[in-house]
Amino acid sequence: MAQQTVEEMYDRLRAAIGVDPGEAQPVLRPVAPGIRVLALRTPTLPPAAHTNVYLVGPDRGPMAVVDPGSPYADQQAVLDAYLGELPIELILLTHHHGDHVGGAAALAARWGVPIAAHAVTARRLAGRVPVTRLLEDGEVVHGATAVHTPGHAEGHLCFEVGGAGATIAGDMVAGIGTILIDPSDGDMALYLASLERLLARPAAALLPAHGPILPDGPAKLREYLAHRRMREARVVAALSGAPQPQTLRQLLPVAYGDTPTVLWPLAESSLLAHLVKLVRDGKAVERDGLWSANTL
Ligand SMILES: [Zn+2]
Repeated sequence: MAQQTVEEMYDRLRAAIGVDPGEAQPVLRPVAPGIRVLALRTPTLPPAAHTNVYLVGPDRGPMAVVDPGSPYADQQAVLDAYLGELPIELILLTHHHGDHVGGAAALAARWGVPIAAHAVTARRLAGRVPVTRLLEDGEVVHGATAVHTPGHAEGHLCFEVGGAGATIAGDMVAGIGTILIDPSDGDMALYLASLERLLARPAAALLPAHGPILPDGPAKLREYLAHRRMREARVVAALSGAPQPQTLRQLLPVAYGDTPTVLWPLAESSLLAHLVKLVRDGKAVERDGLWSANTL
């Protein structure tokens, strides 16, 4: 990709595919016992235009607020209005991406509550969002179990709300669009291992950061794993079918021929993430930006 910023690319994608403008006034809705959702407008990966904020806690609070990602004042005001009636106890972050943390610092300051996240997330946010409590894998916070699920982002946490039979899934899966594994801060092999890890845990509905909830979590995880394996097989086939080492741009139409061209800038990141994994697996080699199957 040339020097275009991610935000410019997202703007072009939004213009090309059209984006659901959502509700003028976001509404808080129950999604599982003790969990409510509020979809706030955020600068996120199209076709999504919102990030789900989850409120975890008993009927009248206190609440843990997961991923208050909107940087926009009108959206933050909606959340604040609800928190006037449902007291907030702390903020939980699934990972460091802007569409998940964009409102966190302001929310923490307004209500005087701590922000909790994985240590890697805290490090990535240093100087921007004050994470004051570090969460480790397996730690129980506000009745939810933190599950470390690196891959989309190194410090990614899911929050398993045992009593609700639901897992707040961050960007592990999406109810709309797809999950981007960008090799600049993601890792395809870790992502696949984290999908497997979630699948091995007790079955739960998955509550994604974008789009509607996914009632059959295990089915969705199996679907994601199958899709990524299919894609990896296509990348391997594109490499082995090529007469000579290929650039990313040459491989893209072969490995992602089924993907609309407007999504190719994103597909290119994903392709690179697959190739990096294949090199580590000993199935591909890279030299001077040219990729080929490892025939040794
Ligand atoms: Zn993300």
